[in-house]
Amino acid sequence: MITVLKRNATAEQKEHLIGWLKAQGLDVHISEGHEYTVLGLIGDTSRIDMDLIASLDIVESVKRVTEPYKQCSRKFHPEDTVVDVGGVKIGGGNFAMIAGPCSVESREQIVEVAKCVKKSGAKLLRGGAFKPRTSPYDFQGLKADGIELLLEAKAETGMPIVTEIMNANHLPLFEDVDLIQVGARNMQNFELLKELGKTDKPILLKRGLANTLKELLMSAEYIMAGGNSRVILCERGIRTFETYTRNTLDLSAVPLLHELTHLPVIIDPSHATGISRLVEPMAMAAAACGADGIMIEVHNDPIHALCDGAQSLTPEQFDAVARKVADIREIVSK
Ligand code: PEP
Ligand code: MN
Repeated sequence: MITVLKRNATAEQKEHLIGWLKAQGLDVHISEGHEYTVLGLIGDTSRIDMDLIASLDIVESVKRVTEPYKQCSRKFHPEDTVVDVGGVKIGGGNFAMIAGPCSVESREQIVEVAKCVKKSGAKLLRGGAFKPRTSPYDFQGLKADGIELLLEAKAETGMPIVTEIMNANHLPLFEDVDLIQVGARNMQNFELLKELGKTDKPILLKRGLANTLKELLMSAEYIMAGGNSRVILCERGIRTFETYTRNTLDLSAVPLLHELTHLPVIIDPSHATGISRLVEPMAMAAAACGADGIMIEVHNDPIHALCDGAQSLTPEQFDAVARKVADIREIVSK
């Protein structure tokens, strides 16, 4: 971190600030110019409040040289992280299709969808049991029963399962869940992230509706700081002024996150667009730009889905998308 002091800073004020910075465990490299004094702060500045320093009377400007996230940063861990989800590897060249309904609705529904998407090459089964709905009057999910049904579908198909957690108190219910999803609305639920950091479960962390990539990485850092480094990031569209689509898919997140972090990055084209016919082109684009996986909502009867029917593919449509994605993967991995 570099701090430039104002011209009128007195020797006493400078000394006071330097003493305080050293007390924070930093080495301070002082460079006295004709007009300005520049302080180079060396050491772990991740715990330093940059805004606090910037607010001091004698400070002209403050700039970070290293990012405030460490554990998820590529600088500190150059190799790709490969997350093993119940035997399915994601990241570092390992690609996985994840598919299933928005919400688990019944045994028949989840088992049928699981069998179909498995046949089409999906490696993981998704399905919401606890649903974060905008309206309290909408279907809230089957909750614990939904997880039981996912486990039945897992037993029948052998597919590892991914489902969303909304409350850390529910963790005991997630004992046999292979990949715990943190939804967009909970990306900055820091108490939840801290609890997940204490587990050894793989975590699928979705980008918040209006969060920057830096904020996404800081949320991953919360989980990793607790000791759990099995984190997969998911871009699922962000809020913009566009209204034709549910969200705007930020595909540049994939190559950029791959530069910034060693964690795997997947794309959810279903929530990103909200429109089933846009899922295929966006899934192909995600595969082309290097995503480590794609998560797609699939329902056996989308018209009657209790949640997100408009963006859900039929199993037949998913099969076609999976083939196209495989074709693209073949081209880009040459
Ligand atoms: C979901 O995956 O079902 C979901 C609710 O996604 P998001 O948190 O991205 O809206
Ligand atoms: Mn959904």
